Amino acid sequence: MSDYFMNTYHRLPVTFTHGGGTYLFDGNGKRYLDFTSGIGVNCLGHAYPALVQAVSEQTAKCIHVSNYFQSAVTERFAQKLVEACSGAGMKRVFLGNSGAEANECAFKIARKYSLKKYGSGRYTIVTLRGSFHGRTITTLSATGQDRFHEEFGPFTEGFTYVPAGDIPALDRALDNTVAGLLIEAVQGENGVHLQDQAYIEAAARFCTERDILLMFDEIQCGVGRTGSFLACEGFGTVKPDVVTLAKALSGGIPAGAALAGERAADTLTIGDHGSTFGGNLLAAAAGLVVLETVNNAAFLREITRKGEKIRESIRSWNKPNIRDIRGKGLMIGIDITQDAWDVLEKALEKGLLLLAAGAKTLRFLPPYTIRDEEIESGLQILQEIV
Ligand SMILES: *Cc1c(COP(=O)(O)O)cnc(C)c1O
Repeated sequence: MSDYFMNTYHRLPVTFTHGGGTYLFDGNGKRYLDFTSGIGVNCLGHAYPALVQAVSEQTAKCIHVSNYFQSAVTERFAQKLVEACSGAGMKRVFLGNSGAEANECAFKIARKYSLKKYGSGRYTIVTLRGSFHGRTITTLSATGQDRFHEEFGPFTEGFTYVPAGDIPALDRALDNTVAGLLIEAVQGENGVHLQDQAYIEAAARFCTERDILLMFDEIQCGVGRTGSFLACEGFGTVKPDVVTLAKALSGGIPAGAALAGERAADTLTIGDHGSTFGGNLLAAAAGLVVLETVNNAAFLREITRKGEKIRESIRSWNKPNIRDIRGKGLMIGIDITQDAWDVLEKALEKGLLLLAAGAKTLRFLPPYTIRDEEIESGLQILQEIV
């Protein structure tokens, strides 16, 4: 293991050389079934032919032009992305490179929207306990978990947290100092927790009544992961003002996006925001392949079916070591009685890649393209370990 990196990651003892579909291969030719997709990034699996072709062709033409010029491929990507999110009311997008950046853009939108309409002093962003919104100082501020707030202060001010599911607490928190409410439609890092329908409906009602921007962090759960293009579409008529995306957005090329609906689409204007690499041509070319593949009713139905197959299969084991299994589509959390990293290491030895989401929670974020027989062989390995 390299001494040259800062020691920020718990890295498992394997070095991959290449991949194909749902498999990754190490230098000894051993293959591993990938139930992680990076961390929900390689949503079309590894070396997906159309993605390889689009990125290769774009690389040969032009990798980057700055946002001071126009780019047909980036314009097409923005159009297709906004169209894919139009069911949730999205009208415009700002393109960046990562999830944290997308959330930073969302906070700027909420603060400026409020400042312009109501003047100063109304800048608070409310988030949920147990949330994860990124690793920059401001997105750590937004993250509602105390363990992230120990060593890096002072943090950006203007963030408060409410317990998920508690409607009266939310009602109290959304007072006249609040500009925006940011919610992960499905909490990912904290163990795959779905939001309650009645809670989201109440949140939407409060936000509409009080002109507070309702914002969904769909960096992990968006782009088809839960079986609808946006996870918030699962809440029916609830219409957010802002949605943030990243991870799966360009299938492995770094990309992030903050989308805004009618109320906030025109809040940011020239000079307000920018990103040198944001909307770069490789991410746009790759993102177009992801959108063309994923934003398709039959493809999305398959994500739902495969997710249900996994959950039903694990439930049928009736293992006492498995305390709960939950999730939506191909975003799955499993509470176990064993140490999660211990299971990850054992699974790795047997050729299965898994994620943890908490000390005793396993998380699956497999590629959407995973095949039924791959699901079965991965689950068989897991069954032997738990
Ligand atoms: C991963 C993640 C982020 C941060 O994304 P980065 O690309 O690592 O900055 C923010 N929110 C959620 C819900 C995430 O899963």
